[in-house]
Amino acid sequence: MPELPEAEVVRRQLQAAVVGTTIARIRVGREDIIRQGIESLSWYAGACVVDVQRQGKSVILVCERAAVKRVVVAELGMTGLLLLAREAVPSAKHVHMVMKLANGPQPEVWYWNARRFGRLYLLNQKAWTVYRQRRFGPDPLTMTGAEFVDLIKSCRGRIKAVLLNQHRIAGIGNIYANEVLFRSGIHPHARGSRLSRRRIRTLFETMQRVLGEAILMGGSSIRSFVAPDGTRGRYQGRHLVYQKKGAFCPNGCGTRIQGLSDERASFLCPACQKR
Ligand SMILES: [Zn+2]
Repeated sequence: MPELPEAEVVRRQLQAAVVGTTIARIRVGREDIIRQGIESLSWYAGACVVDVQRQGKSVILVCERAAVKRVVVAELGMTGLLLLAREAVPSAKHVHMVMKLANGPQPEVWYWNARRFGRLYLLNQKAWTVYRQRRFGPDPLTMTGAEFVDLIKSCRGRIKAVLLNQHRIAGIGNIYANEVLFRSGIHPHARGSRLSRRRIRTLFETMQRVLGEAILMGGSSIRSFVAPDGTRGRYQGRHLVYQKKGAFCPNGCGTRIQGLSDERASFLCPACQKR
């Protein structure tokens, strides 16, 4: 967390607020938060933000200057935030980057991260292509059902591990993997290659529906997540199994939600979710 829905909420708000603005300068706190491209930092002063994109759980600012494009990739990691509202910054101590904007409705974009798992990358077009190809599988919202069936059928490992593997499919983390598998009636340890095409189709449709609903509700505010304008998500109120160990199954089967320690903590109904 933040996962795909939260990153998409961030992308949409930034898209509306910063596209068309000019970067006056970028101030970086600790240099090691920039994992690649620190030497190009000065290039960004005077560049225009022309687009805001998302890949998996990362948000990308596409910048252009003199017909050359470069990107700023912000990995949100476990606790990363991109913020427009100064009052939404939880503590000044963990602000790792401030992007000053010259001519837009918002004066600044802040990159905040309590932990140091989050990372920034400053990349030219070629490096961005390489980065994208190395790290990200297809997007769950834009891939087709047929592509998804082929993907799952080709994986002999546990289905939940496949959903969490960003190289296979990019953007799902532990919260949404648990929620999507419960709603699909699939056990997290089911083997992808052994699931029927019909059950994989159900999983695909459930995945797209859950992610879409979560985006519309502003994401899930577990831990510190807030949107760039400081608003909290509301989808955590719709969670059925995540962190609900010991509660009765919402399907009314009378079984209690079980917690498993595996790749990441799993929450499931052992009666409703089959292998
Ligand atoms: Zn149940």
